[in-house]
Amino acid sequence: MTEHKSQDRHGGAQQAGFAPQEQEPPGLTSAMLPRPDHGEESYVGSGKLTGMRALITGGDSGIGRAVAIAYAREGADVAISYLDAEEPDATETLSWVEKAGRRGVGIPGDLTDADTCRSVVDKAAAQLGGLDILVNNAGFHFSRDDAGTIGNLQQELVERVVRTNLLAPLWLSQAALTYLGEGSCIINTSSIQAYAPSGKLLDYAATKAAVNNLTVNLAEGLGARGIRVNAVAPGPIWTPLQPATRDAEDVAKFGSDAPLGRAGQPAEVAPAFVFLASPRDASYVSGSILGVTGGKATL
Ligand code: NAD
Ligand code: MG
Repeated sequence: MTEHKSQDRHGGAQQAGFAPQEQEPPGLTSAMLPRPDHGEESYVGSGKLTGMRALITGGDSGIGRAVAIAYAREGADVAISYLDAEEPDATETLSWVEKAGRRGVGIPGDLTDADTCRSVVDKAAAQLGGLDILVNNAGFHFSRDDAGTIGNLQQELVERVVRTNLLAPLWLSQAALTYLGEGSCIINTSSIQAYAPSGKLLDYAATKAAVNNLTVNLAEGLGARGIRVNAVAPGPIWTPLQPATRDAEDVAKFGSDAPLGRAGQPAEVAPAFVFLASPRDASYVSGSILGVTGGKATL
């Protein structure tokens, strides 16, 4: 029944592609046409994360917002991190967390800075009274012309991509180990780009391949402490990152090359993060990368 509703809302070839649109990074939800679906009206929890405490980086919008809503409805208290410019999105996400009857904590900060990564974790743990789930979800890319991609790379942007997507998860995970105990977990956000890299996203794709590597390696190292480490690898998902970092022409056909014929919605990715976080459902799942790609191969 729910699946049918989901198909009606998101499915169908007639809904492939989007109105051409662009934003400045990091992008805001309110400027998107259509507004993404984060499960506000559809996600139903069943106590899978009761009493747990989660930090979701980039939890203001897109996939992170959908995960925040789902986690709160599953019974978790939720801290989200975001950039200052995203305050309106963060406020809306936190209001959904609070509507679910859970504690919502907003922690602004630029995660390209290692000290900020550490302080975001410390603040989340202090305000939530501990930490059981770290979702390393903040990410950045910048799409470039196919022709001469390597020649077009700008040092500042590449360093922002690497710091946000690869270094921040390292420093955040390191800091979180002070708080994570037996039965807790880390979930990274990878990408289809780790498996099928696009020339337009040369540096981004490399960071996501590295995130996969980091995920399996950390899972190996932290298993003895009872901490599970996994990742979700989304395909094309309709979030502010897209109009904020692609040209309007690219946005117009975004997701149409997926075997399911369309981009996915954040609400369609969140259940994978719920599964991986659940100490009951995923008790023996660690070192896994779960694809949510609309049919693109994660091999
Ligand atoms: P989004 O723009 O809604 O979320 C990304 C978030 O990252 C932003 O909201 C922002 O708060 C955070 N962020 C970026 N730079 C930051 C910085 N320097 N400091 C702190 N926070 C920062 O877009 P999204 O698509 O939901 O992205 C979430 C994750 O999903 C990212 O890791 C992205 O790479 C990954 N992903 C997205 C897609 C997709 O098609 N949308 C596909 C595969 C993977
Ligand atoms: Mg955002």
